[in-house]
Amino acid sequence: MAFEPVIGLEVHAQLLTKTKIFCSCSTEFGAPPNTNTCPVCLGYPGALPVLNRTAIVMAVKAALALGCKINTVSIFARKNYFYPDLPKGYQISQFDRPLAENGQILIHGNGTPLRVGIKRVHMEEDAGKSIHDGFADSDRHSYIDLNRSGTPLIEIVSDPDIHSPAQAYEYLSRLKIILEYLGVCDGNMEEGSLRCDANISVRPVGEKKLGTKAELKNLNSFRFLQKALEFEIERQIQTLEEGGKIAQETRLWNTADQRTVSMRSKEEAHDYRYFPEPDLPPLIVSEAWQREIQAAMPELPEAKKNRFVSQYGIPEYDASVLIATQTLANFFEETVTLCQSPKAASNWIMGDLLRDLKEFNLGIEASPVQPEAMAHLIQLVESGEISGKMAKDVFEAMFRERKTPQQVIAEKGLKQITDKGEIENIIREVIASNQKTYEQYRSGKTTTFGFFVGQVMKATKGQANPQLVNELLKAILDS
Ligand SMILES: [Zn+2]
Repeated sequence: MAFEPVIGLEVHAQLLTKTKIFCSCSTEFGAPPNTNTCPVCLGYPGALPVLNRTAIVMAVKAALALGCKINTVSIFARKNYFYPDLPKGYQISQFDRPLAENGQILIHGNGTPLRVGIKRVHMEEDAGKSIHDGFADSDRHSYIDLNRSGTPLIEIVSDPDIHSPAQAYEYLSRLKIILEYLGVCDGNMEEGSLRCDANISVRPVGEKKLGTKAELKNLNSFRFLQKALEFEIERQIQTLEEGGKIAQETRLWNTADQRTVSMRSKEEAHDYRYFPEPDLPPLIVSEAWQREIQAAMPELPEAKKNRFVSQYGIPEYDASVLIATQTLANFFEETVTLCQSPKAASNWIMGDLLRDLKEFNLGIEASPVQPEAMAHLIQLVESGEISGKMAKDVFEAMFRERKTPQQVIAEKGLKQITDKGEIENIIREVIASNQKTYEQYRSGKTTTFGFFVGQVMKATKGQANPQLVNELLKAILDS
């Protein structure tokens, strides 16, 4: 029997506010443990939460970018559970009245666009961190760091519209880029500012009813997400094929063993005894405020991709690579503005530049070759001053030795040939060895002119001054 996986993702994104969601403590990552705390985020009795306005704006931006409908009135609720890193004994979240609902992300399924619904986007506070290793007495004690307690989060819950690990990967990539473009989350999965859980079940192909799902927690990298889903799909199918039943449970991805392991049976919403947070009024996001926030949003990745295709005439594939980050997209646009050759710029950036950046583990913002130098190199090739082949070597030296194209060309002796007599001699040699084409030209087929230019440039390894070549060639051919 063939089975089909059904996957929904729950993504927690830390908002890039300077201060926490309900107090003015700093959200800085990596501060000494328990220094960014106060009575509110330590859960002292009687301390009152005050909602961070910037957090609301960021959450609304994210929801709008995901095509959600913003609820003008949303309600904060207490989610009650005990955990050592949750000092209040409850988390302030949103329950039956979330900030936003009914959005979507379009992914490229198997070549055909696939719509993955966004069920809801809600705001909540993060918990602290329990640290179970790294201390001399870690075998006996755990440590608590409450710096993260009260950091603003949005939780983005997808519909179960995803049917393969590859689609889950693409959904998460697209979501990450959108949040990064908006500047509402840095997308750093290693530092935990973007975290992903997955609900997954399998069912016989053709079956409409959903199978029993397992929740996979702590999928804190794209690779783990994919591996954990692959493993879990296999495990569930095998269990069913052997006549077993899937338990509704929470499972963890164990990196060392490359498998998911059962953590606990899955709790239901009613286990949390949600009730409206009595210390916070309903959150009102008026339509006027929504419009104001919408107006301040940057161009989003999908729109930028489409614009790159229409404005610069580059292939859609190029555009989708170049919009991976705003910095990369800006790098491309600056280069094109300077050299006016979109496709050449795209080829150089996607090929040589990204390859070298990867090799040296550098981000585009730290690139030794900046748009001015990139554009200049492209112009040197297009004007024929250096050949495409030479340009590859010039680029390598520009990147590795942080030099300008002029410096590299001077040092490598790639100087242009500007001596008239020398070029004339080469032109005569080229004509002599292409008599037939020469006769065609003389009998009026002047379109062969370009062929002669190419031959002369080739004979001079691209070092002849192209303008001189054109002038002299015309004079000699027409004489
Ligand atoms: Zn605080």
